Amino acid sequence: MYRKLADKLAKNSVLDRNEYLTLIRNRDSVREYTAQLATETRRHHYGDRIFIRGLIEFTNYCRNNCYYCGIRAGNKCVERYRLSPEEILSCADSGYELGFRTFVLQGGEDKHFTDDLLVYIISEIKKRHPDCAVTLSVGERSFESYRLLREAGADRYLLRHETVNPSHYGMLHPQNMSHDNRLKCLYALKELGYQTGAGFMVGSPGQTDEDLADEMLFLKELDPQMVGIGPFIPHKDTPFSTEEPGSAEMTTFLLSLIRLTLPRVLLPATTALGTIDPLGRERGIMAGANVLMPNLSPAGVRNKYLLYDNKICTGDETAQCIECLKTRITKTGCMIVTERGDYK
Ligand code: SAH
Repeated sequence: MYRKLADKLAKNSVLDRNEYLTLIRNRDSVREYTAQLATETRRHHYGDRIFIRGLIEFTNYCRNNCYYCGIRAGNKCVERYRLSPEEILSCADSGYELGFRTFVLQGGEDKHFTDDLLVYIISEIKKRHPDCAVTLSVGERSFESYRLLREAGADRYLLRHETVNPSHYGMLHPQNMSHDNRLKCLYALKELGYQTGAGFMVGSPGQTDEDLADEMLFLKELDPQMVGIGPFIPHKDTPFSTEEPGSAEMTTFLLSLIRLTLPRVLLPATTALGTIDPLGRERGIMAGANVLMPNLSPAGVRNKYLLYDNKICTGDETAQCIECLKTRITKTGCMIVTERGDYK
């Protein structure tokens, strides 16, 4: 019976709220079957090719105070850093040598990085590496700012909405942060022609199965080119330090549902998934994911961009990370490729 629902999702790329909810509640009896359908769907659109993105965590200064996040403004234990434009560019240069053709610039919401400064960094990366994509992940900015950054050459933008449920959003964020604005930003990014990524944490405090069913419906409606999900993992110096983490099992099942709902979506198996489960990223790939985002940040700052506890790969060199990932991914029957990996 649950298999029939999974088949229906594979066929129609959508279910109603109750059907999603039924699958989510009974995931243990359809997990493998759904993963099989999801990997077939991925294979149909992208083959067994897994795209890699070089993640440059360029600032851990942040003006926001999200209750879950380790680099929240209120965390006084964080040693703050920001990379200079030269350091960012040299990360991209060495990433290029390693085969990366997408660079993801991610950071806290740091006023130091004005439109002018980001425009300079983006256009310089594009000038040096015209065959590469630049992805931004720097939070909420004005429409005008998004427009300028897009004009400077940014191709993609990751902005997880964190939760579709406004009252749940209010449990995860202080009053001065607005769910409405976050969603407005996502629609603005789409309008400006960015390949846009939405997403949420799995198992964040207060999240219900109903919320997760609503996430699927929201993603269907928004129709983003990328979706980032990973388990919530507590960070010791945040208000959520004693909350339960999300599970790898739920995360991988949702990856399968997302693959079937948005067949061509670019879907990472995230570092958080690899942190909560030593084989998490492999399991994510086998559930339908097709993107990995190894860390390209300079060795000296890697252990300072800690959104959650026990983050993996904070001590390794990028070259080591890639070798390790290649071995791991080969075992899943897929292979890492070095191309831009745009949305089809
Ligand atoms: N400042 C940017 C980038 C945020 S960091 C922005 O606002 O978009 C990227 C993502 O990490 C967040 O969107 C959030 O979903 C995730 N994250 C933050 N803290 C986390 C935690 N404790 N556990 C798991 N994921 C977390």
